[in-house]
Amino acid sequence: MAITLQGKSLIGFRNGPTGGSSFRALSPTTGEAIEPQFHSAGAEEVNLAAQLAADSFAIYGNLPGKVRATFLKTIALGLEEISEQLVERAKGETALPEARLRGEIGRTCGQLRLFAEAAEEGSWVMARIDRAEPDRKPAAKPDIRSMLKAIGPVVVFGASNFPLAFSVAGGDTVSALAAGNPVIVKAHPAHPGTSELVGQVIRESIQECGLPEGVFSLLFDSGTSVGSQLVQHPLVKAAGFTGSQVAGKALFDLAVRRPEPIPFFGEMGSTNPLFVLPGAAAAQGERIAADLYASFTLGAGQFCTKPGLVFVEQGRPFDLLSATLRDKVSSAAGFTLLTAGISSSFSRQAAKREEEAKARLLAQGTTAAANSGASATALLFAAEASTFLTNLELAEEHFGPSLLLIPYATKQQLLECARSLRGHLTATIHGTPADLREYGELLQVLETKVGRIVFNGFPTGVEVCHAMVHGGPYPASTDARTTSVGSLAIYRFARPVCYQNFPDEALPEELRRQNPLELWRMVDGKPSKGPA
Ligand code: NAP
Repeated sequence: MAITLQGKSLIGFRNGPTGGSSFRALSPTTGEAIEPQFHSAGAEEVNLAAQLAADSFAIYGNLPGKVRATFLKTIALGLEEISEQLVERAKGETALPEARLRGEIGRTCGQLRLFAEAAEEGSWVMARIDRAEPDRKPAAKPDIRSMLKAIGPVVVFGASNFPLAFSVAGGDTVSALAAGNPVIVKAHPAHPGTSELVGQVIRESIQECGLPEGVFSLLFDSGTSVGSQLVQHPLVKAAGFTGSQVAGKALFDLAVRRPEPIPFFGEMGSTNPLFVLPGAAAAQGERIAADLYASFTLGAGQFCTKPGLVFVEQGRPFDLLSATLRDKVSSAAGFTLLTAGISSSFSRQAAKREEEAKARLLAQGTTAAANSGASATALLFAAEASTFLTNLELAEEHFGPSLLLIPYATKQQLLECARSLRGHLTATIHGTPADLREYGELLQVLETKVGRIVFNGFPTGVEVCHAMVHGGPYPASTDARTTSVGSLAIYRFARPVCYQNFPDEALPEELRRQNPLELWRMVDGKPSKGPA
């Protein structure tokens, strides 16, 4: 079954109008426009989507977890049914390779099913019960029960580099829906057709499951107006964002300056520092360099987890690592990036690194892949640790196939560099057991800087599972207390509600005395599945 693209926003079960500004997707490979034309939403559509979402919340937010689980599984099945069409469309809009896009569909569906399991099992609501003690002296203790409840309509922004897994049915949408929140997605203009296909599947799943139409809307816009309006809309109660630091910070500022500020979860760019400690450099230098090359050029370097900054001891360890990387980079074929805009900011930032931040260009790949304006060559830079410490913009994300090596002189200087870092999503240590003992302080520093620390591996490739943390201190994210990948992400879109001295039949099922849902609950301070 193939879906025909309409090029209009999906507002509940209604379609947006065709007036206003319009745009088409552009092929990164040829630069040509791809049909159909997409029409931007206006203030009227923003209001309607927000109103429908608020109306549906009263029903959707109180449905049993099982019903939400069925809904999420229906979406997964629907995406799998149109996987060929999705791959074709996403390939045209992003130039990402087919295998990667197939993998992303698998990841997106796996994510939907992981959250379906969490919603169905139900213990994520963290039910807490403190039973009454009427005879307590000097005052009786009341019966107190609390649990997490959905927060309300959530706005979601996806990034260009994950047209599926961090987009319309990506982690933000799915964790919000699993918790019981209606979602309004602002489609990314770099992949509007892929966005609409996924949006149509979600709409059909809502119909199939008999849910209220306002549970999901998808709004198109060629600019930033719809996104800004959504974040400031009084009926919107939270936002999830994946994208650049500039956009994330701009939207975060809007969210917190509202008359009623709302939580804003921005997952943004990161440089993901990697530390090659002396023992590992001596024993495995060449292999680390080869794997590092593969990791920093994966997906043309367009991953938020790309290792972009590498610290290695000066002298032989640096010479060995840089020689292997130089060979690989100088013989690398050109890359096609996601958009012409990303390509021009890649070149601008490269020039700035050399001219203003005093980095040396060690090697450059062969000519560009295509003549579309979205091409790039791999770049290898180096800068002394002392230069790095006085030019902190060198630690900023250079989105694309670029790597910066920092040779350091002493352990003290390495620790100084680590302490100077701002927040990142990940950090990686390559070391031997002896290195780890010698550089124990480095691990302590990194624990304060990142959300995930990788040992003797590479940060690209983020497992979707229960223990994953994909977040980090600002500017990696706007809220270091949480994650946007893995089942913990559900807690972003829920808040605790407490019930004091309520009769059993008036309580949510999760808190009733007989524990009819058989949840794990905290009863008088101890985990229990029993009645309470
Ligand atoms: P982007 O340019 O920030 O775009 C993200 C979304 O924000 C788009 O829908 C964009 O719409 C919108 N937007 C941008 N500026 C805005 C503004 N001032 N007001 C309102 N909306 C605005 O990011 P991208 O190029 O798509 O993605 C690449 C970036 O995402 C990289 O930095 C990468 O590291 C990061 N990323 C992070 C993660 C993570 O999990 N931390 C995952 C993937 C990617 P318009 O284009 O219409 O403006």
